[in-house]
Amino acid sequence: MTAPPTAPVSWPRRWAGRHPRLVDGAIAGCVFLIGIPGRLHEAGDRPWLWALDIALAAPLIWRRRDPVAVFAVLAAAALVQWVLGVRLTDDVALLVALYTVAAYESRRNAIGAAAVLEVGVVLAAFRFAPARGVLASFVFLSGLVAAAFFIGTTVQTRRAYLAALVDRAARAERERDQQARLAATAERARLAREMHDVVAHSLTVVVTPTYSGCPATEVIEASIVTALDGAGLGPTQIRMQRAPAWTSDWITAAGKAKLRGYGIVPPGPVDLARGAPLRFVPRAVAPLVCPRCDSQDTERLAAFGATACKALWRCRACGEPFEHFKAI
Ligand SMILES: [Zn+2]
Repeated sequence: MTAPPTAPVSWPRRWAGRHPRLVDGAIAGCVFLIGIPGRLHEAGDRPWLWALDIALAAPLIWRRRDPVAVFAVLAAAALVQWVLGVRLTDDVALLVALYTVAAYESRRNAIGAAAVLEVGVVLAAFRFAPARGVLASFVFLSGLVAAAFFIGTTVQTRRAYLAALVDRAARAERERDQQARLAATAERARLAREMHDVVAHSLTVVVTPTYSGCPATEVIEASIVTALDGAGLGPTQIRMQRAPAWTSDWITAAGKAKLRGYGIVPPGPVDLARGAPLRFVPRAVAPLVCPRCDSQDTERLAAFGATACKALWRCRACGEPFEHFKAI
């Protein structure tokens, strides 16, 4: 699955997105700079005006962390300014704060902040505008408040819309992946069903001869087919498999018990270390247990018996000969 799609963003916006505090610090600095010319003019005898300036600009640094609190602090600073009868151009900070509330907070908070600011507009118009310009001042400042409010809410709406688009695209991609997985699963199930029909409805028996040149192979095959057909398990296929070669290790414990019961000592485990084909010194032969009297007093008479796979032995205790099926 690929990464979820994101809306394309130009690099200045990307940079600004990565450094929000720096951007907001710059905005606060600009607001402060706007106030400087007026302050140089007036603050000669009232140096505390600079503190009021800072109170109206600095909170903007945290405007996105807590828009409502920043707006409240700025509104309080503006009220102090109004009470003191000082006109400060950096009241523009209130517009930035209102925009931020409208862009990041609920619509209710945005309307509340706009209402608070509108009250401030009325107060300011009556206090600072010349008598004939009160209405014009009110309309102008209200226009600024409305603009900040609408720009903020528009930005928020657009951001929500973009987020919804991105979310929908990611969901569509997830659904596509899921569809693909379901299709693959269905295909595997179909193949398995077909394999079952082909394989399971005809019985195949794999036979490995104990001796690859055995002339009885065809008789054995025919016997297997006859037995399975007789049991109603046909149709039957015989597959003769010569590799890996048969070994006496494949004889089951039950098979070995039957050999012993028949009088033939069954083979022990195949010792691969003893598989060297040429030897010049005869191997020591460990005594076998007599299949008739269980005596260990036995001796080997010949390395080969009635067939090449057997050796001929004799029990000294009971005097009977017996055969040993060699491990091969
Ligand atoms: Zn014996």
